[in-house]
Amino acid sequence: MESALTARDRVGVQDFVLLENYNSEAAFIENLRRRFKENLIYTYIGSVLVSVNPYKELEIYSKQQMERYRGVITSFYAVSDNTYRAMRTERKDQCILISGESGAGKTEASKKILLYYAVTCPANDHMAALGDRLLQSNPVLEAFGNAKTLRNDNSSRFGKYMDVQFDFRGTPVGGHILNYLLEKSRVVHQNQGERNFHIFYQLLDGGDDNLLSTLDLERNPQNYHYMVKGNCPRVSSINDKNNWKVVMKALPVIGFTEQEKLLNIIAGVLHLGNTQFGEGEEGETYITTETQIMTLAKLLGVDGSALREALTHKKLTAKGEEMISPLNFEQAVCARDALAKAVYGRTFTWLVEKINQSLSSKDSSVIGLLDIYGFEVLQHNSFEQFCINYCNEKLQQLFIELTLRSEQEEYETEGIAWETVKYFDNKIICDLIEEKHKGIISILVCMSSYLERLVIHKLANGKTRRVMSREEFRLLHYAGEVNYNVNGFLDKNNDLLNRNLKEVMCQSDNQILSHCFRKEEVIDQKRQEMAATQFKNSLMKLMEILMSKEPSYVRCIKPNDAKQPGKFDEVLVRHQVKYLGLMENLRVRRAGFAYRRRFEAFLQRYKPLCPETWPNWNGRLVDGVSLLVNHLGYKPEEYKLGRSKIFIRFPKTLFTTEDALEA
Ligand code: ATP
Ligand code: MG
Repeated sequence: MESALTARDRVGVQDFVLLENYNSEAAFIENLRRRFKENLIYTYIGSVLVSVNPYKELEIYSKQQMERYRGVITSFYAVSDNTYRAMRTERKDQCILISGESGAGKTEASKKILLYYAVTCPANDHMAALGDRLLQSNPVLEAFGNAKTLRNDNSSRFGKYMDVQFDFRGTPVGGHILNYLLEKSRVVHQNQGERNFHIFYQLLDGGDDNLLSTLDLERNPQNYHYMVKGNCPRVSSINDKNNWKVVMKALPVIGFTEQEKLLNIIAGVLHLGNTQFGEGEEGETYITTETQIMTLAKLLGVDGSALREALTHKKLTAKGEEMISPLNFEQAVCARDALAKAVYGRTFTWLVEKINQSLSSKDSSVIGLLDIYGFEVLQHNSFEQFCINYCNEKLQQLFIELTLRSEQEEYETEGIAWETVKYFDNKIICDLIEEKHKGIISILVCMSSYLERLVIHKLANGKTRRVMSREEFRLLHYAGEVNYNVNGFLDKNNDLLNRNLKEVMCQSDNQILSHCFRKEEVIDQKRQEMAATQFKNSLMKLMEILMSKEPSYVRCIKPNDAKQPGKFDEVLVRHQVKYLGLMENLRVRRAGFAYRRRFEAFLQRYKPLCPETWPNWNGRLVDGVSLLVNHLGYKPEEYKLGRSKIFIRFPKTLFTTEDALEA
């Protein structure tokens, strides 16, 4: 017993519900810290998995380890495994929601879960190929959708929800990906110390000489306006050349035959960025990079003079008549950047569709995996951060609702009385953002020029606090305060592409582009929906999808801001523990009973401790458990028997029983 206690002291408890002092945040953090130091980065709160980013490779993800830890309730794989079992035995669709701030390890966790299914689920030859496709879709999506930011060298700049589809045998047979709002502004601008999407650097570093000369590209990223804004062409943790090879290998696996067209587009975006304008004497704008424009037109498969015209002029329809008006210098720059963003953004969506085609299957129960960009506070926060943080706010709301609801339901179905625990409900922030007519998104839609009105309006409501400057408004998100700068907010929300540019693009003979820019869009004069409204609607749909499934959670924590192994910054961790609501989560879990187990499992494990249940109990399960706990001397206030589970109030009770087993 002595030694068991020492071990527990050193490595902490693997499930927070076993923590003696469960009301103490300090004890909670100390437990995380001890485990982190021992490379035990995973700890449960009941069925919620808390993960701390180790920032180093751990040897726990090999096939052998997966097999070994399969079914061990405290291992990382328990989430994947329980979800899989529940899907099979209860025939209910499942989902795993992975959350945490940027750099906390969500994408890594989601990849490991996917790998687990690909490796451990029953498969035949045909399915093995599918597993491959599922896994190979990741490097491709990351190349096009991830980038180096200050917070994370491989930050997801889009949201991803992936259904893994299984047939009745439990074999993975397909998949489907929904992607959410790619941060397109990155294509044309990067903050200091950040990069554009990986694919651009991969192409320049990894593409062979022939390819680069066909695309008329030079190796040095510093030659491309769209790649130099962050002043950070190389990142020590990233091997662009190798990753290029990985992506090129992955593309055919997921059924790509359009590689050349895809690369033309990527190169086209870079050439577009290098397209420069001059201002004539009468204020008219012209293109100063003539050779560039011809290369560009060739790469995009469009007519050179039409493109030149569309980059410097705007087509308007007034009272049914078409008019062409010249753009000034700034407008031309905007039009160029808007085109680059549209081309890249739509190509990304096309890529996802393409992957979906290669994964598609009809069968099935599904396990959904949600890995979305993490909560993010920058020095200057704009429209992108607003959307990203709104999304995280929604997920937090779902977490609050579902963890409480499912807990409540469990007590109800098991016929056990329970008391409520108070928690912070972030509904008011979600409402403030999304409410009809009154929410920020609705107001954005009606606003034509400035956001101050909103700020003043909300100030009067008392929902936002002191305003920093006239150009900012502040939201008190569940994860912290964020000041949003309204400059460019409305433009990004409008996300407009001049009609004549659309006209040029939809005539492209690059099939990817002609698929992305449809003629109908040009003919249809209806105003396109605002970016924030589209995003809100797609989030609503996502919430519906998630609500229809049985959720499990992985809550990721970032141990330090330096991306370093072994460093546990307590202040940083405490902040995350607080806003993720982990203490409340634990309290709810403990409100009634710290520990629960199905009768079968409880009997199976502890039956050697009682002569009447050993070696086999053939009566009713509940009677067997009853005999067992009586024999062990459990007091009535220490436990309750539900319909299918035993609920144990104090961890000590279970410790004693565990120790008896070891003695
Ligand atoms: P974002 O919201 O910016 O996309 P994220 O939560 O998805 O962030 P990841 O990209 O998963 O963060 O993790 C950031 C980095 O941390 C990884 O590139 C990797 O270096 C390291 N990391 C995360 N999890 C693990 C792990 N389990 N083992 C080893 N390294 C990890
Ligand atoms: Mg990520």
